[in-house]
Amino acid sequence: MKELHVSNHPLIRHKLALMRSAGTEPKKFREVVREITTLLLYEATEDLETVEIEVQTPLAVTTGRKLMPRIGFVPILRAGVGMVDAALDLIPTAQVWHIGLYRDHRTLLPVEYYNKLPVEPTVDICLVLDPMLATAGSATATVKVLKDWGARRIKYVGLIAAPEGVERFHAEHPDVPIHIAEVDSHLNELGYIVPGLGDAGDRQFGTN
Ligand code: URA
Repeated sequence: MKELHVSNHPLIRHKLALMRSAGTEPKKFREVVREITTLLLYEATEDLETVEIEVQTPLAVTTGRKLMPRIGFVPILRAGVGMVDAALDLIPTAQVWHIGLYRDHRTLLPVEYYNKLPVEPTVDICLVLDPMLATAGSATATVKVLKDWGARRIKYVGLIAAPEGVERFHAEHPDVPIHIAEVDSHLNELGYIVPGLGDAGDRQFGTN
């Protein structure tokens, strides 16, 4: 399957350049993260099922459609948090399940530090939100957590990926589509995406 959706939308391309610029301050950066997230989620949700419903307009009875699946947004702490508001604006009835992971400096493996998922899955589709698909360590670990939870349908939505991250993610989770604004050149020796935008968490929260 191995789906990789790189958006070619001019609005996304324009906003991506704004977001990359080192001169874009956190307030503007957060704004652009939200805007790109909205556009990417619009594309990533295009295959969600709807059912026909009856609607009474002020003039007549007509038919409309209602979104069927129960949707869960799964932001990976901390940078994924900046994508949540846009996601909830689009689908206010969605559930939000935060996952916290950090990379152990000695083993370089992701360690889970926050997960409040209940025993049984409560959603039909999980949309993992994480801006940077770099080594893909956190993203692949999060998808594994969701699969172990019992999630059947999962998509990853991010802003920028490294080719190395895409390759690893697809190798570990070939059934999970990736929706991204751009695939960049490479990862540097510190694990940053080049040209990228720096640390997405620091850029959003003013911590660099
Ligand atoms: N995480 C980030 O925030 N930026 C990168 O370039 C890589 C990982």
